[in-house]
Amino acid sequence: MKVSFPYMGTTVVYKKLLELLGHEVIMPPKPSQHTINLGVKYSPEFACFPLKVIMGSYMQAIEKGAEVMITSGGHGPCRAGFYEQVHSRILKQEGHNVEFIVFNSLFRDYKSFINNVLKIKNKKSWFTVGKSLLLVYDMIKKLDILEKEVERIRAYEVKKGETTKTWEQIQLLFDKANTKKEIKEAFHKGQELLSNIKQTDVESDRKIRIGIVGEIYVVMEPSINMKMEELLGNLGAEVERSQYLSNWISYNALPKFLRKGTHEKQILEKGEKYIPIEIGGHAKLTMGQIVDFSDRGFDGVIHLMPFGCLPELVSQSIVPKVTEELGIPVLTLSIDEQMGVANTLTRIEAFLDLVKGKQAKKIS
Ligand code: SF4
Repeated sequence: MKVSFPYMGTTVVYKKLLELLGHEVIMPPKPSQHTINLGVKYSPEFACFPLKVIMGSYMQAIEKGAEVMITSGGHGPCRAGFYEQVHSRILKQEGHNVEFIVFNSLFRDYKSFINNVLKIKNKKSWFTVGKSLLLVYDMIKKLDILEKEVERIRAYEVKKGETTKTWEQIQLLFDKANTKKEIKEAFHKGQELLSNIKQTDVESDRKIRIGIVGEIYVVMEPSINMKMEELLGNLGAEVERSQYLSNWISYNALPKFLRKGTHEKQILEKGEKYIPIEIGGHAKLTMGQIVDFSDRGFDGVIHLMPFGCLPELVSQSIVPKVTEELGIPVLTLSIDEQMGVANTLTRIEAFLDLVKGKQAKKIS
């Protein structure tokens, strides 16, 4: 079957898993203004921004011949759990009959999870399925290690744009890797390429480190967040995101009693003080991650929230209290189809000036 999925972050890994299972993968194009326009045209006006972008992404994948969409579900008091229903109804109204396969946590509903695995298993043996999953997980972990390094060194590159180009090259290397050995080679090659990038020397107390927190889709998909990591890196700041695919998988793929040591569990505990109950989305994680970045001596945090996202609206309302208590500057940016680039850029530059001023004061 011709399968596709929502475009988010390092999509090479989803593609790889489906290819290993023998599917014809229809790659959705990287979200562009056209994707956003399509999504906005067909989605309810009050829907949260990721729903609209994903809507546009599905339409583009269908144009390319996709018949089945594989996506993740959601639970709790947020709209993520309704995405598939809304998307499939709109697509049906527009005359597209595509099947949706929605993966929810194995530990919430193991029956539907197994059913979904059977659907995408594609007559492969369980051994092949297990091997492919492990292979792709290994790939995700290695890509996350390299991406973190990219986000760190971009701030000091001598030749502007070199780190971003190298990162694209690294993703292509992983795209071509199909075995454990080839993934290992791609990883070493990636490390080598990154270590060859010439960097300027900056004294450690002059380095600026900025964390990015917020809802998973706007944090992880650069094409809809003004390439925030790249932007901050080009302005001389090291960056680290709150969300990486490997962390998300290790938290969501493990049973509750094994989650204790995971990164997400620790971050959620740090957010407990500000949001003690589960309010959906990533609000609690956002608060915990701000606390974590503060504990680790980061200089500031950019908080990304999709317009219309209720969980992140709640976290936005708590941000002033956290800033006051922890003394870490936080800039909240609301992201949607109407976001003005010049205006946002000015706000980010002003924010970095503030962070640098604070650092200079500390040094003096
Ligand atoms: S977390 Fe926010 S943006 Fe994401 S689905 Fe829920 S309400 Fe929408």
